Amino acid sequence: MSEFVNYLMNLVKTKNPNEPEFHQAVYEVAISLSLVMERHPEYRKEKILERMVEPERVIMFRVPWVDDQDEVQINRGFRIEMNSAIGPYKGGLRFHPSVNLGILKFLAFEQVFKNSLTSLPMGGGKGGSDFDPKGKSDAEVMRFCQSFMNELYRHIGPNTDVPAGDIGVGGREIGYLFGQYKRLKNEFTGVLTGKGLNWGGSLIRPEATGYGSVYFASEMLATRGETLEGKKCLVSGSGNVAQYTVEKILELGGKVLTLSDSNGYIYDEEGIDREKLNFVMDLKNNRRGRIKEYAEEFKNAVYTPADPGLDYNPLWNHKADCAFPSATQNEINGKDAQNLLKNGVYLISEGANMPCTPEAIDLFLDAKILYGPGKAANAGGVATSGLEMAQNSMRYSWTREEVDNRLRLIMKNIHKTCVDVAEKYGTPGNYVNGANIGGFIKVADAMIDQGI
Ligand code: GLU
Repeated sequence: MSEFVNYLMNLVKTKNPNEPEFHQAVYEVAISLSLVMERHPEYRKEKILERMVEPERVIMFRVPWVDDQDEVQINRGFRIEMNSAIGPYKGGLRFHPSVNLGILKFLAFEQVFKNSLTSLPMGGGKGGSDFDPKGKSDAEVMRFCQSFMNELYRHIGPNTDVPAGDIGVGGREIGYLFGQYKRLKNEFTGVLTGKGLNWGGSLIRPEATGYGSVYFASEMLATRGETLEGKKCLVSGSGNVAQYTVEKILELGGKVLTLSDSNGYIYDEEGIDREKLNFVMDLKNNRRGRIKEYAEEFKNAVYTPADPGLDYNPLWNHKADCAFPSATQNEINGKDAQNLLKNGVYLISEGANMPCTPEAIDLFLDAKILYGPGKAANAGGVATSGLEMAQNSMRYSWTREEVDNRLRLIMKNIHKTCVDVAEKYGTPGNYVNGANIGGFIKVADAMIDQGI
């Protein structure tokens, strides 16, 4: 490990104990940036990375609400305003029982680099709550969202901080949050993205993260003169990102074999076609059911319940060409990475944030497969949020084709940035270095321009 990485990790671990995901995210970036620090002593002198690991502002608040049994519930709300050097804070809200300060700091930290890579003027932030929307009624979700916004509204705004969705926060939650913001502030603005089409949302925003991750995969394949046509793909998750990843893979002629949720996964040897995908979309978005029902509906599919006793995920142990982890952080460990390589997988495009552990990433980089890190591969979601902000500012809306073309172009440019930067720093084909360094330079230079 270089002296720089050692020094930075000591600092981060001492100042932020018990935040392993945050340490992991910083570590990954620090490895790449040690290449930059050798060439650009000004960044070290200015202590740019020391500043970037310290959020500009952390907001933590109580979220009291009343459930359907008339019982008072108390959750914890957060917003991490990480970096505003190149634009207003931008990033999603995650509602999941695992949410804590460390997880949101890792997400906010990665968001800064990701947003910079999109080439749109967006700083980085992230927020959320340990509230679990699973099994809650619409009315409970609404009351929770309203209480959450009762505090958050004073910290956000269309030119200050623009939240969006993430795990557990989709169109329904954004609607309730936006409604409450509007009541409190008496203004109709682009303060949130992922809004409904009738009230300021953008076409293609729901599809954008999944589509973008597949566009990025196509760009990676093109460097080897290949396309997705006929490729066997493993997809994890079954939420927004996974659903539109499958849709785009199907459009481009690929075959999707798997989907999952926190209870288990399905393997469909015949492939998940359009009709089966419609079933999944209805199951997950309208009926809020579990993926197990897929195997009850389509008898050829095999359902395997999650086994916490296993030290690997069997979803990643099937013969395939490409993998699209689209569920959550650290869903591919070293053993899973070995299984993927053993089964012939030579492309990973990360729809989720930080789905691979450092051991898994090292194995992929050593094997020289096409490995697209989330900061680049899943940037299509936030990029299209940026396009939603642009349309809101203009009080105008673009057509589906227009937004999709812009998204495709943005993904192409992110890919090119990764390739060019990796090459420039002597690590051709290393998208991790390309994304980390490419995202960093713009933010670092802006921070220097703006002074201490
Ligand atoms: N939560 C998404 C992400 O991880 C999107 C954030 C946004 O649109 O602001 O990038």
